[in-house]
Amino acid sequence: MKFNVTARLALAFLAIIATAKAQTTPAQTTPNPNTPPAARTGRAVDVPDPNAPASKYDYHDVWKPFFFTKNGNEYRASDGSPGPKYWQNRADYQLAAKLNDETNEITGTEVLTYTNNSPEKLSFIWMQLDQNLFQLDSRGNKQVPLNAAGIPQSRNWGRGQIFDAGFKIKSIKILVTPKGSKTTTATDAKFLVNDTRMQVFLPKGIDPTGGQLKLKIEYSFISPDYGSDRMGIINTDQSKNGKIFQVAQWYPRMCVYDDIIGWNTLPYTGESEFYLEYGDFDINITAPAKDIVVCSGELLNPKDVYTPEQQKRWAQAAQSDKTVMIRTAAEVTDPASRPAGKKELTWHFQIHNARDASWGASAAFIIDAAKLNLPSGRKSMAISAYPVESASQPGATGFRAPQWSRGTEMIKASLEYNSNKWFEYPYPNATGVAGKAGGMEYPGIVFCSLGGGWGVIDHEFGHTWFPMIVGSNERLYGWMDEGFNTFINTLSTKNSLKGEFYRAPNPAQLSFTWNAFTRSTLEPILSNPDNLKETNNGTLLYSKPSAGLVMLREQILGPERFDFAFKTYIQRWAYKHPTPDDFFRTIENASGESLQWFWRGWFENTWRLDVAVRDVKYVDNDPAKGAIITIDNLEKMAMPVVLEIKTVSGKTDRVNFTAEIWERNASWSFRYPSTEAIESVTYNPDSTLPDYNPANNVWTSKK
Ligand SMILES: [Zn+2]
Repeated sequence: MKFNVTARLALAFLAIIATAKAQTTPAQTTPNPNTPPAARTGRAVDVPDPNAPASKYDYHDVWKPFFFTKNGNEYRASDGSPGPKYWQNRADYQLAAKLNDETNEITGTEVLTYTNNSPEKLSFIWMQLDQNLFQLDSRGNKQVPLNAAGIPQSRNWGRGQIFDAGFKIKSIKILVTPKGSKTTTATDAKFLVNDTRMQVFLPKGIDPTGGQLKLKIEYSFISPDYGSDRMGIINTDQSKNGKIFQVAQWYPRMCVYDDIIGWNTLPYTGESEFYLEYGDFDINITAPAKDIVVCSGELLNPKDVYTPEQQKRWAQAAQSDKTVMIRTAAEVTDPASRPAGKKELTWHFQIHNARDASWGASAAFIIDAAKLNLPSGRKSMAISAYPVESASQPGATGFRAPQWSRGTEMIKASLEYNSNKWFEYPYPNATGVAGKAGGMEYPGIVFCSLGGGWGVIDHEFGHTWFPMIVGSNERLYGWMDEGFNTFINTLSTKNSLKGEFYRAPNPAQLSFTWNAFTRSTLEPILSNPDNLKETNNGTLLYSKPSAGLVMLREQILGPERFDFAFKTYIQRWAYKHPTPDDFFRTIENASGESLQWFWRGWFENTWRLDVAVRDVKYVDNDPAKGAIITIDNLEKMAMPVVLEIKTVSGKTDRVNFTAEIWERNASWSFRYPSTEAIESVTYNPDSTLPDYNPANNVWTSKK
């Protein structure tokens, strides 16, 4: 999803009372730094520092062993890769649905083929009925908090819309076709619905290691206008040429059964997203003939649903790096822009190896497209579907001006960059749909606001890599989806469209960010999204984990080692279900670096960083003989150190230390080979380290 950055960084934080013990060792004579005892014995000595300030830093807490609470095993290996006995189940879907654009009802038939690759026999399955969130008595609706005016307010519900919400399950039948037989029997299955979950009982069970179940489900639901910002309807007040439907969470979906907790049955309460199995989808959508339907995957029957002229334009777009109009703004209101003679049309799509599929429909769609250039040469296309209200308006500029006329260009740039950088875009189409959802991702299709623009398009299509390719459990680990995606967005934004939408961070502003990222009212990143204050999820799911990866790349490992490790993670877990451990272990193994001190500080705890430059002394009081510079680590976290040293003649120099200087010290003194007096020593000169308190970062000779 897209996170709205404004108004989230409330900076209030409690005054911190220094509770850590000051070093109480009695003062000792400071040794002459020119003749340290170490030089005589050949062994480092621990000289207690009588001037060390009180510090909360406990190096053993940061650097102790046993970050991982479990050893690797044959399912999930110790190096973070899927083990030799790794398994996951599979869900293939044949879906047929019909849209009634007057009542907003979607009526569907689902044929599910579920393959049990687990070592256990399954006597029931669990499915997700996400639409039940919009029933007024759902768990999600009942936990929407009140705002200051006493009115329920959240992004994650149906905004209190009163309508006949939720899935109506008409029937569930177990289909059995005996081996060698051509006859299929259909038996009613017993099922139980509880909030957004449905349990289907299987008298014969599903055998382990490859047993299959086939179910046929007849169902319907009425689409909410606002579906927790992930689906919904734009009405004709905002789209004069017809309603726009963004349809998702639209069929009963399999819960994941995994080797971690078995059935993942956490309800959909609107906040946390999804955890889904991979499979192939065959989809038929029947809609009024005036509507254009866009969907995950490849359209298999363009001749039935587009005019001959439009088919010609599609062929042209497939060869074109420039955006080709398939249906222009002027043609939207021209009946000749739709095939004649039918009241309804059925659109047939297929997508393979996907964890979900979604679609959009509207009579108001302008359609344009261009080809995607993928590293392997495989064919794919960028497509945009938007109403005239979303087309770029002459003279309209600024953040809020609609930008969909450039949608296809942006989709193409984002996907081509990420395909070259990380892993090739796997689907035959990439369609951006303007509509109700502010920004929501699905395989091969994303829903963005009526405004569109680079930020939301790049973000939603960035989700192709997390969680569409790397299928982590969003309901439990939202940061592995939003945070990793926000991180890759930083690189695609800098490196796409000649950096047109890139804004370099302002070092002067960054310390506010570091303060906000480590404020005392935040939960740890390693929290379930449902377990966070809604006001904190922009920081904890998106920006703070992303900043963690930026620091890991820029300050700790360097881009070459980080990029190899991150790419290794994507390749190892493509179309699989990694956990946080699998990520942490892969990064450590592929980069060859133990990073447990960093995972603890930034991900597992809410620690902060505050390093101070304490003082500068000269050897024999002579700047020409060298300087001894002392810095203190005052807070809980460890990070590498960057210092900028400026001497009186105006020369500047940089000194770097890895985080290991803090492995057994809260204060650190080092010799700097000065040849003249030092004017200033500045810690964190670019504000790239997350030090929350810049007040003590600079030592000057004048103070
Ligand atoms: Zn997102």
